[in-house]
Amino acid sequence: MLTVNAYAAPSATDPLIATTIVRRDLGPHDVLIDIAYAGICHSDIHTVRGHWGEIAYPLTPGHEIVGFVREMGSAVTKHQIGDRVGVGCESNSCGHCEQCLKGEEVYCLNGNIQTYAGVDYDGTITQGGYSQATVVNENFVLKVPELLPIEKVAPLLCAGVTLYSPLKHWNAGPGTKVAIVGMGGLGHVGVKLAHALGAEVTVLSRTLSKQKDGLELGADHYYATEDPDTFEKLAGRFDLILNTVSAKLDIAAYVDLLAVDGTLVVLGAPSENISLPAMPLIAGRRSIAGSANGGIPITQEMLDFCAEHNVLPETELITADYINEAYERVLSSDVRYRFVIDANTFA
Ligand code: NAP
Ligand code: ZN
Repeated sequence: MLTVNAYAAPSATDPLIATTIVRRDLGPHDVLIDIAYAGICHSDIHTVRGHWGEIAYPLTPGHEIVGFVREMGSAVTKHQIGDRVGVGCESNSCGHCEQCLKGEEVYCLNGNIQTYAGVDYDGTITQGGYSQATVVNENFVLKVPELLPIEKVAPLLCAGVTLYSPLKHWNAGPGTKVAIVGMGGLGHVGVKLAHALGAEVTVLSRTLSKQKDGLELGADHYYATEDPDTFEKLAGRFDLILNTVSAKLDIAAYVDLLAVDGTLVVLGAPSENISLPAMPLIAGRRSIAGSANGGIPITQEMLDFCAEHNVLPETELITADYINEAYERVLSSDVRYRFVIDANTFA
């Protein structure tokens, strides 16, 4: 077993602290990865603060991981020592259910293993990427294209695929009108991806404070949702609305912005329930859906697409001792647009 430096939350209310965690011995299909960078996702905060229910502490979060292969188990065929690799939200799944066989491991019918706060096959609680190194089954290790600068890639492993997957599933492209609600970590990557796919992109943010950025990232239009006129102007406009908001939102108001046959996809995951009126759904044959990050094949496709189209997250590089301040800044939407931790600073 390998002991590595890490940061962990000791409880739902205490700040994260420097600590050590243990990684399992390499099994035949395992890869040992020296972590180079780890992104901070709002889901890390929801999880460690108990927004989604009780978890076991201490917990090391982090599911946006990039680094280099240091060692491999005897039967690994998919990777080589020294490869640039990534790990996202899932680190394993049953591998034999209908969804796993389709490459939709995130929807594993027997329950996937989350990269952190999941129960691994050996009964231990998985620990995430805010650490120096990790051990992951080779099938859940992504190849990071050489064209992508390694210090920028990490947020693609969660935020990137969480937006790419619904954009592809609901056929965003030339001729489709896509709205992204919330210009945060997920939202800003969504703007870039939807633009690269050829869709007409509108950002719906609370205010116009990030309008200049949004337009530079590829949005065609930008509206403030605090302005009630926005909802009148945009009624019936969008084929696809991707809601990335981390807090409770009046979803009903956004349903009215869908075109006939349009779909609103819930990506943001506050703990509160959603309530919906029946008539606007019925009248426009509109759909409301949810979507989880993405399976391994589409995650690899997304990384390759980002390399080809030069889609990169906007990041702020931080040291490990800044994680707690970064959390406060995410919570107050003061992040432009994703914090990435330099994993050398766990040393
Ligand atoms: P983030 O960087 O904090 O961005 C969230 C954005 O939501 C903010 O930038 C803000 O946009 C908006 N917002 C925040 N508080 C709001 C409020 N009270 N009312 C209205 N809008 C508000 O978070 P993130 O990392 O992008 O994650 C967003 C959500 O997606 C989280 O709930 C996270 O857990 C979830 N998530 C889901 C998946 C999945 O698989 N479905 C994957 C990753 C994350 P404006 O300032 O532009 O208004
Ligand atoms: Zn995430």
